[in-house]
Amino acid sequence: MAPCLYIVIPCYNEEAVLPVTAPMFLEKLKNLINGGKIGDSSRILFVNDGSKDSTWEIIRSLARQDEHFLGISQSRNRGHQNAVLAGLMEAKDRCDITISIDCDGQDDINAMDEMVEQYEAGFEIVYGVRSKRDSDTFFKRFTAESYYKLLNNMGVEAVYNHADYRLISSRVLQEFADFHEVNLFLRGMIPLVGFPSTCVYYERHERLAGESHYPLTKMLTLAFDGITSLSIKPIRLITGFGIIVTILSFVGIIWAVVRALAGHTFSGWASLMCMVCFLGGTVLLALGIIGEYVGKTYIETKARPRYIISERTYDKDMPQNYSREK
Ligand code: UDP
Ligand code: MG
Repeated sequence: MAPCLYIVIPCYNEEAVLPVTAPMFLEKLKNLINGGKIGDSSRILFVNDGSKDSTWEIIRSLARQDEHFLGISQSRNRGHQNAVLAGLMEAKDRCDITISIDCDGQDDINAMDEMVEQYEAGFEIVYGVRSKRDSDTFFKRFTAESYYKLLNNMGVEAVYNHADYRLISSRVLQEFADFHEVNLFLRGMIPLVGFPSTCVYYERHERLAGESHYPLTKMLTLAFDGITSLSIKPIRLITGFGIIVTILSFVGIIWAVVRALAGHTFSGWASLMCMVCFLGGTVLLALGIIGEYVGKTYIETKARPRYIISERTYDKDMPQNYSREK
């Protein structure tokens, strides 16, 4: 049977673009249904992220016009990542697969066909990846590329050039619901859930109308969150630096003593040098060690699942006294 798809679309102050893109999403959904790729009960779920304009009224009127449109509204603006999460969690018990996509028409909706095909081929997560960044300025391209490299160096498994356009099966979402952290960076968290995944490539266009809600400050906050929510490597760097400085300080102490014994120094210089070197090194090292514990506490407070079982050779609900000889 064809899977039931929910397209999850976060919207914040999008009254300019929603009337343009909503019919496009609907046409895509209907094409997929008519092509037998997805089931009749598939829906488009808008998540109003506490918009201050008429976005919610538009969503409500869309829902009245066509049963394929659904909407939920957050009590206030919580940001893009939270809006996507709200939509995915709302959808997870009602469908087999979800696709999250922005409402501004930047992501190519035609990539959905291939995403669904990849799901049918056995992949539980399908990442939409930009094939080129022609529409971006050199500055945005350069910063984005450097950022992905930095993320990878920090041990965060984010897919290169993938934003939040992706297919996730409801099975993966059921497991993802056990990730209770509040600092969200979905593109780095979803890979933590595991399960077979793949990528489809698409070209990203300009916004069809309205303005971007990701000014530089919000982008920097998200970028910083990406690292600090998923990695404690920065703390480890302090520990490493502390070790190096401690070693260097011992060399410095020996050098200062030798200089003093050779009589090349003013009185008091060597003892002062020794103190500065020793304290500098040990303070950094101590900070690093405390940081390790803070980092561990941080990871523990997230209470992430310690394991996720993807398959069993037996039925999970099999009675305990099950015996093969009967
Ligand atoms: N968005 C949201 N809450 C916010 C900011 C943005 O739900 O606080 C939505 C927005 O409506 C859009 C998507 O997130 O569907 C991406 O935002 P935008 O297009 O402004 O970002 P850009 O593509 O410029 O990075
Ligand atoms: Mg956009």
